[in-house]
Amino acid sequence: MKNKKKDIRALTKAQLQEFFVANGDKSFRGSQVYEWLWNKGAHSFEAMTNISKATREMLDENFVINHIRVDRMQRSSDGTIKNAVKLHDQLTVESVLIPTATRTTACVSSQVGCSLDCQFCATARLKRMRNLNPDEIYDQVVAIDNESRLYFDRPLSNIVFMGMGEPLMNYKNVMKAVEKITSPEGLGMSPKRITISTSGVPKMIKKLADDEAKIKLAVSLHAATDEVRTQIMPFNETFPLDDLRESLEYWYSKTKSRITYEYIVWKDINDTRKDAEALVRFCNYVPCKVNLIEYNPIDDGNFQQASSKATDMYQQILERNGITVTVRRSRGKDIDAACGQLANKSA
Ligand code: SAH
Repeated sequence: MKNKKKDIRALTKAQLQEFFVANGDKSFRGSQVYEWLWNKGAHSFEAMTNISKATREMLDENFVINHIRVDRMQRSSDGTIKNAVKLHDQLTVESVLIPTATRTTACVSSQVGCSLDCQFCATARLKRMRNLNPDEIYDQVVAIDNESRLYFDRPLSNIVFMGMGEPLMNYKNVMKAVEKITSPEGLGMSPKRITISTSGVPKMIKKLADDEAKIKLAVSLHAATDEVRTQIMPFNETFPLDDLRESLEYWYSKTKSRITYEYIVWKDINDTRKDAEALVRFCNYVPCKVNLIEYNPIDDGNFQQASSKATDMYQQILERNGITVTVRRSRGKDIDAACGQLANKSA
């Protein structure tokens, strides 16, 4: 059987240089090819016009370039763009471009499907098929950067890992992608413009703190008592709030970076004053702000957005206790691009 060709972008620059030296060429050739792969985003060896034909053929015999392909692009009436992204093995993930007056934010996926079981999230219905590779994460960002330049005349300004999957369950690859996004050889973006959102995996939050990545952290909290949280996010049984709290204290002690809690208020689930007071208590552990997010209904009617009276009550109680609150309106709902709606419906 023929040897399976390797994904050339899994190689570091040094490994690529070594490959050329081992094949009787100069290490400089490795740098040239690396530049084609990463700075110029080449999709084929043929496109590498300053590399000799013989070398390009040799590369073609040994490697593949597993580039993603934007299979379908949908534009929402509010300007939001959703990309259905085909991977080399024909699986699909989704990423979203969210424009505001001053920013363009890319919301990218980290896994195909998700291994967690948040009862209110459409992605949780797709079981986790596999982790994305670093280059598959990076490519989603580049695709959105290109769309931002094309449609909004400006480069991408922010990245949130709030697409499909749990980024901290694909830690190594997500961090490699972040490294590439922030490196001058990639997009040269500041890590301060990157937010990783997690459902709360305490061990990995501590690791992220230790690794000093300088990125921002958001936690999908949604309930501040174990009783309610386990009901809507069953993995909370394994990672209860005390462990989450401890990991967040550790995060703050190491990074001094304020945490954002994402929180949805649902009718008959967490819409009482007692629930809001529990959130205030949780917020007092570590400097933070709360992002109250609108619920985007997914098919069954088990979850319903609470009344605006309940959301106002939350906002008042939090503000009275000196906690910063923002209320996030959904974007891209008409194309199923909003939070929790990414489920490859268009694929
Ligand atoms: N697994 C990570 C990354 C996904 S982010 C995390 O949970 O943080 C997706 C965000 O959308 C999370 O804050 C999630 O709680 C939220 N979300 C999930 N389903 C939703 C829905 N139906 N409506 C609104 N937000 C939802």
